[in-house]
Amino acid sequence: MQNDPRRTESALRIVWIYPDLLSTYGDQGNVLVLEQRALRRGIPVETVHVRSADPVPEGGDIYLIGGGEDRPQILGAERLRRDGGLHRAVARGATVLAVCAGYQIMGTTFGGEEGQPVAGIELLDIASGRGKARAVGELAAEVAPELGGLPMLTGFENHMGVTWLGSAVRPLSRTIVGTGNGDGTEGCYSGRVIGTYLHGPALARNPALADLLLSWATGPLAPLDDTWYDRLRQERLAAVLPNQ
Ligand code: GLN
Repeated sequence: MQNDPRRTESALRIVWIYPDLLSTYGDQGNVLVLEQRALRRGIPVETVHVRSADPVPEGGDIYLIGGGEDRPQILGAERLRRDGGLHRAVARGATVLAVCAGYQIMGTTFGGEEGQPVAGIELLDIASGRGKARAVGELAAEVAPELGGLPMLTGFENHMGVTWLGSAVRPLSRTIVGTGNGDGTEGCYSGRVIGTYLHGPALARNPALADLLLSWATGPLAPLDDTWYDRLRQERLAAVLPNQ
């Protein structure tokens, strides 16, 4: 997309940021789920994979940034700060889903490999540091009601980080099982920027979250047959919430 001035104006433009740095935990699945859920509704899609040496195009509709190890995370934060394309996109009203390392990068600061504070890119009013123990395992969380009655979130977390939410963000959800931000909440959002610790990938396990992002970018959506998504959700939720 960023190299092609003839791009189709009506297509949904998905931008996957830094697959060469922040793609350790299968978060590419989020890109695939968004593409498929748009295409199944007849919405054409153009996806760009932006490697870390390349500029982030500011004309995208939905930006995805995934999880990763500490050093690629630091490098990714530095490059995004210098680049500024994601900031310009958010200022234009673009939608963002940032996962784990990508989520921490969105804040003012996060913990480096020795726990040292590293500057984030300040798109979310959060700060992260290193916790005492790694949070690894299944996560289930109730979504903030003001996001429109989404069903329970399910995912997998694997991080050292703890995250403090400032007054300019709202928690994405309340943690039922797992650690999330570390204070009983999981993830956060501000405007159309969502951050979460959920891998899984998050959107394969939570199609309603995928549709929330798509609706922010494209408007009201037709329903889809979610039989297979629902089976995956039920299986994963039953593993941690047997009485549901
Ligand atoms: N390096 C970060 C942490 O451990 C993020 C890890 C991840 O993206 N899964 O907190």
